[in-house]
Amino acid sequence: MESRIDRIKKHLHSSSYKLTPQREATVRVLLENEEDHLSAEDVYLLVKDKSPEIGLATVYRTLELLTELKIVDKINFGDGVSRYDLRQEGAAHFHHHLVCIECGAVDEIQDDLLEDVEAIVERDWNFIIKDHRLTFHGICHRCHDKTKEETAK
Ligand SMILES: [Zn+2]
Ligand SMILES: [Zn+2]
Ligand SMILES: [Zn+2]
Repeated sequence: MESRIDRIKKHLHSSSYKLTPQREATVRVLLENEEDHLSAEDVYLLVKDKSPEIGLATVYRTLELLTELKIVDKINFGDGVSRYDLRQEGAAHFHHHLVCIECGAVDEIQDDLLEDVEAIVERDWNFIIKDHRLTFHGICHRCHDKTKEETAK
C-alpha cells in the first residue's frame, strides 16, 4: 500500500501536482476498496469517516485530477452513475468488467484477451488502438450456481 502511494505521489509530482493530505486520503480510500467501483459520493463518505474536514467538492476535484492523470478510470455501467476505478499499474489497456444482470455484482478480468481483435481492428480499419472499455452483461457464477441448486431441489 505504501509503495503504491509513493508511486502515485511521484506520478503527481511529475505532472507538477502535490499529494496533499486531502488527495492522499482519497487515494487511500481507492486503494483500500480496489475491488469496488465507487461513485464520487461513496468515496466521499469513506474519506469523511477518517478525515471529517474534507468536503465533497475537494474529493470530486481529486477524482477528476486522478482521472486526468490516468491513475483512475471513470466508468459508467449504464445506471447513470460515474464510478472510479483504479487502473492496474503497468497495464497498457483498461481491464474488462462482467456486470451481473441478476444481482448487480461487477467482476473484473485483468487479462486483456483482445490481442487478436485489436490486430484485426488495426489492420482492417487502419486504427491505432490506445485503449478500450469492455463490459459484459450476463449472469454471474454466484447467481448461476444458485439457479442450479434450486432446480436440483
Ligand atoms: Zn474495474
Ligand atoms: Zn487491449
Ligand atoms: Zn449475480
